[in-house]
Amino acid sequence: MLVLKDFSEENMESIIRSTVSVVGAGGLGSPSLRLLSAIGFGKLRIIDRDIVELSNIQRQTVFDTSDIGLPKAEAAASNLERMNPEVEYETVSLSLDEGNAIDILKGSDLILDGLDSFHSRRILNKASITLKIPYVFAGAIEYYANLSTFIPGRTGCLECLVGDATDDPDNTCAQVGVSPTLLSIAASIEVREAVLLATGKEPKLMNRLMTVDIDDLSFDFFDITKSETCPTCSVLTPEIPKATNKPRVIMLCSGNYSVTPTEMLTLDLDSIAERIGSRFTVTRRKRFLQIETESGPSVTLMRRGSAVVKDVKSPEEALETYLEIMNY
Ligand SMILES: [Zn+2]
Repeated sequence: MLVLKDFSEENMESIIRSTVSVVGAGGLGSPSLRLLSAIGFGKLRIIDRDIVELSNIQRQTVFDTSDIGLPKAEAAASNLERMNPEVEYETVSLSLDEGNAIDILKGSDLILDGLDSFHSRRILNKASITLKIPYVFAGAIEYYANLSTFIPGRTGCLECLVGDATDDPDNTCAQVGVSPTLLSIAASIEVREAVLLATGKEPKLMNRLMTVDIDDLSFDFFDITKSETCPTCSVLTPEIPKATNKPRVIMLCSGNYSVTPTEMLTLDLDSIAERIGSRFTVTRRKRFLQIETESGPSVTLMRRGSAVVKDVKSPEEALETYLEIMNY
């Protein structure tokens, strides 16, 4: 029974018909996913490249300690499945990049930001414009969050707002924390925007930037406009630069490495497990393999071809370990 004022049966049906892509199942993505699932969005596509660590659990509220070591997208989907089995969960254990962004996001009705870098957000922003999918942006660090909703064709885009800002290497998760309560507030606002978009109502953060500071508990709003010279949304279809043809290796906040192949693969995990079984210790899981090497590093290999490599000292060693498994 629906009792909320200004929320009809038809609105609920629109929500049930919606597919939401949540990019990043970390600090922002976790509380967003819980709300989206509880509200009953029809399909949730969960995109994350990482695995669950003990240190995540204080703010990444979609996980518990039994999920440690599992790919975040998979762990989130199975926990949400228990909460609301009516929702369809689609997992993409990949790092969103230039080569795969369009494939990963196409078919979604809206995109929610759960990312932690400008690098990835720029790719997401361009893909949202190319695919004409609304993008609810949120970024949070320490006690401070920024939010806005970008609708291709109706508003400016992330690039109009941030220009050529880049990631501050000293201001990432490894050096600076983020308040769990701030994440919860920012995620709730993102999901509110998602509800408005899905039900055909005007989102409140169109052409507006909202800032949240929970240190002094202030909520501020600033009008923002589309930049006529924006290199991204002022062209018809922004070009997403092509990925290099070598797998991309990134150090994650945990100190582990994420390896992303140049294109999205669909691996036959059974035959890989069989092929490498004589050389490595392999545990077959539903949509991934856990692989222990004799020399020390361990690898979580996802069905889409990406991997998280643990216990290596450099990106080169991570790539070498990945290629050793893929080419064995
Ligand atoms: Zn723009």
